[in-house]
Amino acid sequence: MRRVAVLGATGSIGISALDVIARHPGEMRAAVLAAGSNVEALLEACRRHRPDDAAIADEAALPRLRDGLREAGLATRAHAGMDAITALAGDAGTDTVVAAIVGAAGLDSTLAAARAGKRLLLANKESLVLAGELVMAAARDHGARIIPIDSEHNAIFQCLPADGGCGDVRRLVLTASGGPFRGRARDSLAAVTPAQAIAHPKWSMGPKISVDSATLMNKGLEVIEAHHLFGLPSSRIDVLVHPQSLVHSLVEFIDGSTLAQLGLPDMRTALAVGLGWPRRIESGVGGLDLLAQGRLDFEPPDTDAFPCLALAFGALDAGGTAPAVLNAANEEAVSAFLQGRIGFLSIPALVEEALAALPAQPAASLDTLREADALARDATRRALARHAH
Ligand code: NAD
Ligand code: MG
Repeated sequence: MRRVAVLGATGSIGISALDVIARHPGEMRAAVLAAGSNVEALLEACRRHRPDDAAIADEAALPRLRDGLREAGLATRAHAGMDAITALAGDAGTDTVVAAIVGAAGLDSTLAAARAGKRLLLANKESLVLAGELVMAAARDHGARIIPIDSEHNAIFQCLPADGGCGDVRRLVLTASGGPFRGRARDSLAAVTPAQAIAHPKWSMGPKISVDSATLMNKGLEVIEAHHLFGLPSSRIDVLVHPQSLVHSLVEFIDGSTLAQLGLPDMRTALAVGLGWPRRIESGVGGLDLLAQGRLDFEPPDTDAFPCLALAFGALDAGGTAPAVLNAANEEAVSAFLQGRIGFLSIPALVEEALAALPAQPAASLDTLREADALARDATRRALARHAH
């Protein structure tokens, strides 16, 4: 029986993970559920999945969580605070962790799961962007098996040989949908609204990653993520816009073969790969009808309209603390955009300013990275005033 901790249980990935888990009642169960602040949604998930432990990051929500669990007649233990979530991520009561908290807030629990040698279904790409070397080293040192839950990286994982080796790989090609503003000129993006930005044409996702998809920062974060997961330099990671979002990524080998993974844009496939691996299990996702789809198109990314992609490549090449700065500035800028405080084009501008203000330092330790993250957040919050509507 696989015992799974779903961190970010109330979000888009968490709900998809619980959907797949519930399809295999004899083989796996959600033993731990954790969320940020939406206690009612967490209680709803607890009523349905009856976990051993439930945790909410917002400590003020603990009494309501406790009362709700009691009212539902559940024996589920209630916890609150980020430290409790981190402890549960590393606790021996589970063997598998779905890391689906959004943002750098997911780093501690991702690291705890890696250090505990868990099977780590890693959706929280920001933890790899911020501290990829440390996360990968922790997984290596403690025997954790990371299975990427990002459609592109999960596709690459499926295309690579069983030992995950990239020795025969010439290059990786990450596909990108292009987001809701594909084909638009930079000037026309100045006045787009948060509602327009989160209306993704192909994927239904949380608000932060939806905005990242609209700016192409998501693809930039994914290039950094791929570098850490697969150990290839940026020069061997390419990005191709593919508006249908059916080819989830490609691996080109030294003999000229290219393998790709295709499927409908539904994250339950990637989650089923992670939960069932090395077996294939039912995910609830139907097959691909290529005749009905008709065609597969490919085009280069527009780096003029969407400068975030180049900023991310630059941060990866600068190394050290630069990716942490990129990520933190982006989180702050996206949050301000979603609150209606700044325009869409201020997102790349703020990230670029933070990278310029905080030149890359060697990332000697987790503390150095956390400090870079904090400095970038401060710098970006201060710069917001200049960008305010
Ligand atoms: P979401 O906004 O729908 O959900 C985020 C979850 O994180 C929620 O359950 C929320 O309660 C929880 N959370 C937020 N802050 C927290 C905190 N401080 N402590 C504990 N929990 C906290 O986001 P999502 O779309 O599910 O994305 C989650 C992660 O997966 C992101 O890193 C994203 O980049 C990645 N991802 C998502 C998709 C997708 O299809 N949605 C695809 C690839 C990767
Ligand atoms: Mg992705």
